[in-house]
Amino acid sequence: MDTAKPEPSQLRSARAANASVSDLDAGRAALRDIQSTDWGDEPLNWALLESLDIAEHSQQLLLEEWSQLAQTFDGEYLWDGPYKYPVDTERARWAGVMAILDRVEPGPYEDPRYFAMVAKQAAAIEVSLIGRSLVLCELPENVPTSAAIRYVPMLQEPGTEGRLPGCGRQFDWRSFDDGDFSGLLVGTTHSARLDAFSTTLGKTVLVPLSAGILDTQYWAAKAVAGAVRTVKNDDGASYRTAFEEDVVRANLAEDASPVELLYETFESWLYRGRPFPEVSEAPSPEETLPLSLMIQYAKRFLLAHEYGHIFMDLLRPSAAWSPSDWIVSRTTQEYRADLLGFEAVGHSGALLDHIPPNISLGGAALALRVYEICDEARSIALTGKVESPSHTSTHPTFDQRLSQLHAYYRRRHGSHLDQEALELEFWRIGAQTTVLGTIWEQVRPRLLHDQGAGRVPHDMWLQATDRNDM
Ligand SMILES: [Zn+2]
Repeated sequence: MDTAKPEPSQLRSARAANASVSDLDAGRAALRDIQSTDWGDEPLNWALLESLDIAEHSQQLLLEEWSQLAQTFDGEYLWDGPYKYPVDTERARWAGVMAILDRVEPGPYEDPRYFAMVAKQAAAIEVSLIGRSLVLCELPENVPTSAAIRYVPMLQEPGTEGRLPGCGRQFDWRSFDDGDFSGLLVGTTHSARLDAFSTTLGKTVLVPLSAGILDTQYWAAKAVAGAVRTVKNDDGASYRTAFEEDVVRANLAEDASPVELLYETFESWLYRGRPFPEVSEAPSPEETLPLSLMIQYAKRFLLAHEYGHIFMDLLRPSAAWSPSDWIVSRTTQEYRADLLGFEAVGHSGALLDHIPPNISLGGAALALRVYEICDEARSIALTGKVESPSHTSTHPTFDQRLSQLHAYYRRRHGSHLDQEALELEFWRIGAQTTVLGTIWEQVRPRLLHDQGAGRVPHDMWLQATDRNDM
């Protein structure tokens, strides 16, 4: 291991190879088109930064963060509060961040703070995928899907050929390398809608995430963090977060501020186009750790799900896929994208952040649940009904996706566990989603009441869009 103190200057990396300079220029221009279309659409509070060099500003923010982190180097790890990062993988992550910055060259209509956040999560995904290959695995029986596909792709670590639990068939996909990401352009848009999608342009793939999807994830996670309590373990010395439903209900009866927070966020989002509560307080010291764990992996999963679509649907490795594996229903595409997302989140969390998969995958589960609740909230404001009509025809429900997450976890991380231990892991993975459901139960009637009183949704909800895809 290289234990020299990491310096910012070591982070500049060579531009990746496959997409040419002109491919990238065309891709960046197309990404900026999407970003400028969304600009001014809704009254979010981004400063107009057209006059600044956005790429330079983003780089400055990222290098400052890296410099601060580098100060904490203790010879083996870099520290950020309770998180510790091994120096070699952390250097790889930040080299990845800088490669993404070079690739995207973020421009006008991008917010450098949002870009920095997305670039860090994208780097974690890319670093954790490199050197691994896709293989086909048989679908677990309890995953509801069309009969058209019996196999789903899974990632395989080097040196485990043929030994991934539950994998039936070999699949000829070379390992991921830098070149696979060379045309991949991530960015954020100013839109308050729930957009997370990926689209190809020549040799580039554009992955814009909307501010709306990132912000609603944050405020929902903050409501969850406010509803749980840190309690002492039986040993009297260590602490844990109490997610139990009775504890949460008692907490909410005593202090309903998480319910207010989620209600205010939705009320403002649906009727004023701004996904923010009236007062946005900084998280309390007690909330900081559970919140940062949830939100970091929720956002990483949003992106990793799009990476799933990119590598399984958009960039067709036609030599490797047989037509029966390739032509699948939209619902199956979502399951496949989730699987790559789960794998990237679980693996990157363990490799880069020293966080076990039952914690990091809790963030993935939360992201899916927040998305579904947002969809329900939107449906209530538009129709007064709780279903999510825009979604159910093509996308699996949250319960179905969680069921696949369990099946994935059992096969990938739980083959050595007995049923009882496994159930405990499943409970841990879904705990935050249950807390959010308890809060949502108290918010939903208020949104139904608003709609019943004749409130008119913000203009953005009345315009047609085919963007949101999660
Ligand atoms: Zn999707």
